[in-house]
Amino acid sequence: MPEYCDAIVIGGGIFGCYAALYLAGKGARVALLEKEARLFQKASLVNQARLHGGYHYPRSVATAVMSDAHKERFTAEHRRFIHTSFEKYYAIDRYGSFTDAGQFERFCHYLRIPCERVEAHPLFNFHRLEALFRTVEHSFDPVLLAAWYRQRVEAERNIALLLQTQVKTATAQGKEWLVEAQTAQDAHPTLLRAPIVINATYAATNAINQRFGVPALALTHEISEIAFAASPQLRNIGLTVMDGPFGSIMPYGLSGLLSISSVAYTHHAISYDDLPTFDCQRPLSDPRCQPEAPGICTTCPRRPPTNAHKMIAQMRQYLAESVQLQYLFSYFTIKTKLKASYIDDGRPTEIALLREQPHFYCLFAGKVNSIYEIEKML
Ligand SMILES: Cc1cc2nc3c(=O)[nH]c(=O)nc-3n(C[C@H](O)[C@H](O)[C@H](O)COP(=O)(O)OP(=O)(O)OC[C@H]3O[C@@H](n4cnc5c(N)ncnc54)[C@H](O)[C@@H]3O)c2cc1C
Repeated sequence: MPEYCDAIVIGGGIFGCYAALYLAGKGARVALLEKEARLFQKASLVNQARLHGGYHYPRSVATAVMSDAHKERFTAEHRRFIHTSFEKYYAIDRYGSFTDAGQFERFCHYLRIPCERVEAHPLFNFHRLEALFRTVEHSFDPVLLAAWYRQRVEAERNIALLLQTQVKTATAQGKEWLVEAQTAQDAHPTLLRAPIVINATYAATNAINQRFGVPALALTHEISEIAFAASPQLRNIGLTVMDGPFGSIMPYGLSGLLSISSVAYTHHAISYDDLPTFDCQRPLSDPRCQPEAPGICTTCPRRPPTNAHKMIAQMRQYLAESVQLQYLFSYFTIKTKLKASYIDDGRPTEIALLREQPHFYCLFAGKVNSIYEIEKML
């Protein structure tokens, strides 16, 4: 007999874990299915750890407002895992920016987020910067967050956590989904039935939507690299250069490391298909990574070679010559975006009820601190 649960959540990143914990906290019995052997192995671990407060989206007021709206609560509820005591600067490149200093200032005033112009700073190169602004932006620690969420999920009696598990078949039967969940080492699938399914698989969103017979989202996918470096001068300083093909260097949570991303070099291969389809997945015989079920890029022997030195060279243009930067290592993962974001570079979190009776929610995450959008949905 299929085992009954009140909801099946697919995907064990921060969004799936938060959804499962939220429902379990309300007394619901939840099955949480995760393809990998551990929770938090993909975008929720491999990101720039920016606790967005709006600054990053001068072309998408909707994303900026959503980020700012959740910042306080996310900070209050994850305080132990957030680096709040570094100086954060935003700057405008003198050449080729989509935003100029005046626009950025007006945008910050419109959002009522602090932004103070700085005329001189010994660590930055003002020949390349049109303007530098002291702002207030924090950094969450993805590694500590991952450990905390894993612990909470494992301790929650209302959550049945199925690791190394994928949906083999899904059938709507009246008001319930009947799901065959296949765990890697098991000979037979586990049968589950539930009135609600929540798809929180980010890069695999469309593969799961297809399996449940609901429409695909218009997405693009990029194999993305976050480089990690150390610098004695920048240990407690972050710089993000806006707005266009620029980059960012900032503390990666409480780790003491700096994460570096660059619009030009972070993204390696791009897939415009519904599913994340890349040359490095060929031949399609490796069950760890396929377009229908993407794998973990950081540990994959076929991932692209690092662009870290290009990223660092780009960021050096904005820094004083005295700043020392030492590259350490990189993480890779698939970054998935809504195709519509091409225009304004927005990253909204979109949650859609794609089928009623039985319910199928598709939860596509833009920013880590927008996990609370889940509560509105449920
Ligand atoms: C390079 C990069 C930089 C970013 N920088 C920031 C930033 O600075 N600040 C910020 O707020 N946000 C940032 N983001 C966005 C943010 O990381 C994501 O929006 C968020 O982590 C998505 O969370 P998630 O739980 O939806 O996805 P994930 O963390 O990717 O979790 C999805 C889970 O689903 C699992 N899964 C996939 N397929 C299946 C299947 N068939 N069955 C079962 N499980 C499956 C995966 O294994 C994975 O564990 C960044 C993203 C990237 C990629």
